[in-house]
Amino acid sequence: MTLGIRKLIVVSLVGGVVLFANFLLVAHWLQERGVIDMAQHVRQEFLTGTAITIIVVLLILLVRPGYSAARAWAGTRRCRVCDHSIREDAQYCGDCGSRV
Ligand SMILES: [Zn+2]
Repeated sequence: MTLGIRKLIVVSLVGGVVLFANFLLVAHWLQERGVIDMAQHVRQEFLTGTAITIIVVLLILLVRPGYSAARAWAGTRRCRVCDHSIREDAQYCGDCGSRV
């Protein structure tokens, strides 16, 4: 975790607390602007139960590139540099020598 990410987390937390403390004010402002009505319309028209189910299934089925459940179960994975098959606990690729 880099220093920039830590600063971003702290700023996000402070912003979140300030926003949460003024929750009713923000909700009233959003109601006046019509954002809540538009969001309800979008939810009713486009986020049906079927659409949410499909999105959740796609998120579950998406895996990182090169990941194979069968290969992970067998205790092997692929080198990111040369795509050589290496053991799961190996720190260096046996073929190209790069750190994995
Ligand atoms: Zn390699």
